[in-house]
Amino acid sequence: MFDVAVIGGGVVGGLVLRELTKYKLNVCLLEKESDVAMGASKANSGIVHAGFDAPTGSNKAKFNVLGNKMMESVTAELGVKFRRNGSLVVAFSEEDIKTLATLRARGEENGVEGLEIIDGARLREMEKNISDAALAALYAPTGGIVCPYELTIAAIGNAMDNGAELFTDFAVKKIGKENGGYVLIAENGREVKAKAVINCAGLYSGKIAEMIGDNDINVSARKGEYILLDRECGDFVSHTLFFTPTPKGKGVLITQTVDGNILIGPTASEQADGNTETSADGLSFVMEKAMQICKKPPFSNIITSFAGVRAYSDRHDFIIEKSKKTKGFIHCAGIESPGLTASPAIAEYVVKTLVGSLLALERNESFNGTRMPDGYFKDLPIEEKNKIIERDPSYGKIVCRCERITEGEILRSLRVNPPATDIDGVKRRTRSGMGRCQGGFCQPHIAELIAKERGVTLTEVMKNGEGSNLLVGVTK
Ligand SMILES: Cc1cc2nc3c(=O)[nH]c(=O)nc-3n(C[C@H](O)[C@H](O)[C@H](O)COP(=O)(O)OP(=O)(O)OC[C@H]3O[C@@H](n4cnc5c(N)ncnc54)[C@H](O)[C@@H]3O)c2cc1C
Repeated sequence: MFDVAVIGGGVVGGLVLRELTKYKLNVCLLEKESDVAMGASKANSGIVHAGFDAPTGSNKAKFNVLGNKMMESVTAELGVKFRRNGSLVVAFSEEDIKTLATLRARGEENGVEGLEIIDGARLREMEKNISDAALAALYAPTGGIVCPYELTIAAIGNAMDNGAELFTDFAVKKIGKENGGYVLIAENGREVKAKAVINCAGLYSGKIAEMIGDNDINVSARKGEYILLDRECGDFVSHTLFFTPTPKGKGVLITQTVDGNILIGPTASEQADGNTETSADGLSFVMEKAMQICKKPPFSNIITSFAGVRAYSDRHDFIIEKSKKTKGFIHCAGIESPGLTASPAIAEYVVKTLVGSLLALERNESFNGTRMPDGYFKDLPIEEKNKIIERDPSYGKIVCRCERITEGEILRSLRVNPPATDIDGVKRRTRSGMGRCQGGFCQPHIAELIAKERGVTLTEVMKNGEGSNLLVGVTK
């Protein structure tokens, strides 16, 4: 029996799992998909919000500001890229300017440092492509950018390096009780037993809560669609640019990503499930908004579009609490934006305070919180590259030409925790296939590497989980 089982391999579950391994606990993570970071933590804006949006005193406000402060150290330990690029909420009317003052006052109450309202002239100095109609902006120097799936994968990998176990393809369907603990039963009949359980199942966290009789956690889905522009125009904006917020959220933003692309989105449309298809209307809306906030966005550089689904609760706040019905069950539900930003702080609170009130927490002296970065090779000085190539010639072979990812890095992604098992898993770990050609050139070679490394045939190599075969048979 495990001491603690975490349900859900998103950024919250991942960082909770890693936090648990700082103590002498036997822990595991159960994920319904064939890989981790497959929910909201795969497709979002990647903004480390400053913390002026959420109402003062809410969980969102508290964990946002704390998580923002923790992001530097967590990402440094895990070898994950993070940059404080600063954010700007742009005003286009006198009404908007009043909103900026409200946001600044709220931010200051929430504990955000360095907030400043700047005039149009200063805004134009900071952002060369800002619209001529922009009048002023709220500048938040603590705003930042991070890659959400890179952080999730690194957190789970580091937890596994420290002894945590990962069960993928484990969709929890039923929860029973046994010997004072829980039996978690998967759709495919597998079972895991644990003394305590932490529900981090994102969009499905309400359903998991229902399985133990907590019927007051209602989580709904709201889709957000994006377009992504090539790194070639990566300096089009340097800060994250927002409109003033609406009742549905922060609205469409335009930002540099931490990997140097330009990201525009998201939309906000209610839906019944986790469907992540994009739509012509959604993408047109996003482009229209980009044209309002900036002059001539370089749409000829669009390389892909995608969508993510927010899991929001009818309490309009993060639900981070112990079950009201049964002992040893903790919920992290309705973690919509700014959940990525808040995740390190949520993880620390859940483990130290909530798990700490259930189980004795004794420090794990052998915990090692550092992890070697993925996709790191191209940034090394040439002398270091040469030394690595001498030791392992596979680092001398470029497979993804757009992102300059080597065979050595791809093989590593199939071997280190949590290992990639399909083409998109390799992509999320190394960035191979994320450039201009979107995998057109490198995908066949990556499929061959996966087949060889995993000892399977090419027809058994999946693109993205079960049933997504790239090849179905031999034609000649
Ligand atoms: C469009 C959009 C934009 C956003 N932008 C930002 C932003 O810029 N900054 C920010 O701070 N936040 C942002 N967020 C919010 C952020 O993405 C989320 O708060 C965060 O990713 C939530 O992480 P999570 O681990 O709770 O959920 P998820 O990442 O969804 O993980 C839940 C996991 O549980 C698994 N699971 C579900 N059911 C089961 C089951 N029965 N058994 C086992 N596993 C199960 C899922 O497969 C999934 O992997 C945005 C979200 C969206 C959708």
